[in-house]
Amino acid sequence: GRSVHQIQSGQVIVDICSVAKELVENSIDAGATSIEVRFKNHGLDAVEVQDNGAGIAPEDFETIALKHHTSKLSTYDDLSALRTFGFRGEALSSLCALSKFHVITARASDGPKGTRLDFDMSGKLKGTSVIAAKQGTTVVVESLFYNLPVRRKELEKTIKREYNKVLALLNAYACISAGVRFSVSNQMPKGKKSIAFSTNSNPNTKENIANVYGTKTLLALIPLDLKFEMDPSNRPRPTQSARNWSTREDPGSREVSIVGHISRPVVGEGRQTPDRQMFFVNSRPCALPQVAKAFNEVYKSYNITQSPFIFADIKLDTNAYDVNVSPDKRTILLHDQTTLLENLKEALAELFGSHDQ
Ligand code: ADP
Ligand code: MG
Repeated sequence: GRSVHQIQSGQVIVDICSVAKELVENSIDAGATSIEVRFKNHGLDAVEVQDNGAGIAPEDFETIALKHHTSKLSTYDDLSALRTFGFRGEALSSLCALSKFHVITARASDGPKGTRLDFDMSGKLKGTSVIAAKQGTTVVVESLFYNLPVRRKELEKTIKREYNKVLALLNAYACISAGVRFSVSNQMPKGKKSIAFSTNSNPNTKENIANVYGTKTLLALIPLDLKFEMDPSNRPRPTQSARNWSTREDPGSREVSIVGHISRPVVGEGRQTPDRQMFFVNSRPCALPQVAKAFNEVYKSYNITQSPFIFADIKLDTNAYDVNVSPDKRTILLHDQTTLLENLKEALAELFGSHDQ
């Protein structure tokens, strides 16, 4: 039978995208400068993420996959600082319940040896064994949803679309992560391993973009650097899930800046490439459909036909938004979105006006 744990833990891991997102964020949190994502059969057979980060300390082996265990912070106050991606301790626990899951980890002090960790479905450490390994952590997620036939079937049916979605997401992580080398590959059951994309350990986002989208893409780009003010007192009433944020008295800073790289509004140039739009809030990749719409509306007013390249990182006070509104933290609630969108459109039009076309 299906345990309560199995059903509850469906939340943070809903598809291949959330698997890759959670594992890559863990690698970044661990200070990795090199992250390799390996899909097998587009992720249906396996998603493996290998990093060269700090590794996992032996005293944490027992707890890492238990529900709500996190080594990352202990007080709600820390939540606003958001120095790390993770803070809920849910990803590994969910993966134990939803996949065939194991971890290989080694710390600098371990020499050429590491430890393989196996867990049961509830996240309890089942066994450890010594294995050759370099410093860092490899997390292996095999046969996602193997024990949930309906979700497995659905995943199999949508895997092509899902794979494109996960590549777009990984593009965003690779582009925003200066100093981190990314390599993403896929291996079909009887085929060769093929590299989807890779980046070098670049000092800045521009070179990451060149690695991912080709150097030619850079030629069409102009720097994005907009600044304006918002009214941080414009907040929705505190919701249940956001109560630890929204009830804060401190309104925070009013300054907003939007930095990055975007294509010039040139008519008839380039081709239709809808996966070239990446949005971030304080350097976290996230879905911001309203912001995307605002950008695209401004481009439309220039009568361009192709979809523009947009790499936009919105920098704003951590009190000006909630990340806690959805389990996967992809959806971000901007408290004063209306003002932000108005200012954004105005500033963009001004920017485009000042460039030769
Ligand atoms: P969270 O990221 O919210 O802490 P997770 O379930 O994603 O929760 O991870 C649980 C714990 O496992 C982390 O707090 C961390 O201690 C450890 N961990 C997971 N992935 C890695 C990794 N790639 N490198 C080092 N430690 C890791
Ligand atoms: Mg995590």
